[in-house]
Amino acid sequence: MDGIYCICLMIDFLKKIFGIRQPDEAKSAPLSKGAPDIAPSGNGPVVLKAHEHHINLKLVSKNAIRVVQILQQAGFKAFLVGGAVRDLILGQTPKDFDIATDATPEEVRRLFRRAFLIGRRFQIVHVRMGRDDLFEVTTFRGNSKKPAQVDESGRLLSDNTFGTQEEDAARRDFTINALYYNPTDQTLLDYHHGIQDLNSKTLRIIGDATQRYREDPVRMLRVVRFAAKLGFTLDKATSEPIYELRNLLDNIPSARLFDETLKLLMSGHAMSCLNELRAYNLHGSLLPLLDKALADPKSARFIETALDRTDQRINEGKTVSPGFLFAALLWMEVQEQWEANQADGEYPIPALVDAAHTVLDRQTASLAIQRRIASDMMDIWLLQPRLERRSGKSVFKILDNSHFRAAFDFLLIRCNAGDLDAETGEWWKAFVAGSAEERQTLLETLSKRAADNSRSRKRRRRRKKRPVSPDLAPTTTHDAPTA
Ligand code: ATP
Ligand code: MG
Repeated sequence: MDGIYCICLMIDFLKKIFGIRQPDEAKSAPLSKGAPDIAPSGNGPVVLKAHEHHINLKLVSKNAIRVVQILQQAGFKAFLVGGAVRDLILGQTPKDFDIATDATPEEVRRLFRRAFLIGRRFQIVHVRMGRDDLFEVTTFRGNSKKPAQVDESGRLLSDNTFGTQEEDAARRDFTINALYYNPTDQTLLDYHHGIQDLNSKTLRIIGDATQRYREDPVRMLRVVRFAAKLGFTLDKATSEPIYELRNLLDNIPSARLFDETLKLLMSGHAMSCLNELRAYNLHGSLLPLLDKALADPKSARFIETALDRTDQRINEGKTVSPGFLFAALLWMEVQEQWEANQADGEYPIPALVDAAHTVLDRQTASLAIQRRIASDMMDIWLLQPRLERRSGKSVFKILDNSHFRAAFDFLLIRCNAGDLDAETGEWWKAFVAGSAEERQTLLETLSKRAADNSRSRKRRRRRKKRPVSPDLAPTTTHDAPTA
């Protein structure tokens, strides 16, 4: 017995001297206490088990697991990838789940009843599962044997070559996005030290930054979004080329730019995204009006209030309409144009309609706002003067308008930001929440006040017209002009 004990001690001693670790010891560093310090062996991934990555399987959608398992049971590899894995490691519930597989899009499509091939540049499969879950299934991307099809700035025009999982990992944008999670055996594959970067809160592009941004300049917008959303810092090599390459965004189709801008605004961290965009001077291609809007304190306050409210709703899991967001970003511009049109002699409502069209045209030159969204924006803007007026029967008509809720929320933001008196907002809040009787009282109080105001205006006008003998003129009056 003593002999065996001595041999064990000796083995332990030798292990310490030569730094030999048991396989389990090597993998056991908990993520929450810093990155497990394991380098990938050769080009292969670091493989982490459940007790090492601490992903809570309960946060994974049951339907996502089903899609993965159907693929695996058909003999294919299948993993959760991208943002979902990133969020799971950070202990957050993912908003959606992307799946990567070695099955071709056609093979994926054949396995599911509700599967649709989409995309040209990247062909992917949309798989519907359960009542309203939608999953994007992508086939591992690889390096084409033929020279890549690029435009004169280096932008990839086609990216449909399939490859190995390792190649797929290298084609992903950031190290923290190249993690693969297999929910069946709960292993996590880390090809590019993504776990280490997650722990040190670093955003690091995979490969040569300049080349990766040239291949797809939208990666510059993605890095800004992740930095703002996750509160991460950009690694030096990842941030350095951005300023110089920012104009490459001008070559991106405006529909794609619009999608990315929307993702930035709906990230739950809209204001910090805009600030990051401006810090890297990337906003010029998306929202050229932003600099001017944020330079004016009143307008900046309005935009900040609107974006804060948007973030709040998104973080509470509520919906936000894109029309509402863009209506808020451009409202001050619309108002300025509206005033200019009225100064040119136009009546208020046609002046507002013209102003809205002018601003939309100006903005659409850089970022194509879809027609449906532009029409929502128009409705929100055009309802503002009607909501302010609150006249008799029209109030009930406005309540039935399908854009009432958005326009009402918009009005409340205007009140909070000091663009409109707080009383109008309070009146509408009471009206919306009130019973039929209370609504009637609110309307009557309003029309009585309007009548009083118009009487006192008339009285003031009469008093001004009446000739006053210089001897009788009062030394001060409330109506006397101050100038
Ligand atoms: P989120 O869904 O939270 O916006 P995400 O990282 O999941 O973030 P997606 O646009 O859903 O972003 O993309 C899924 C994954 O596809 C990414 O994590 C990344 O690995 C890869 N990917 C997406 N866009 C690019 C790109 N432009 N270049 C390289 N890889 C990309
Ligand atoms: Mg995603």
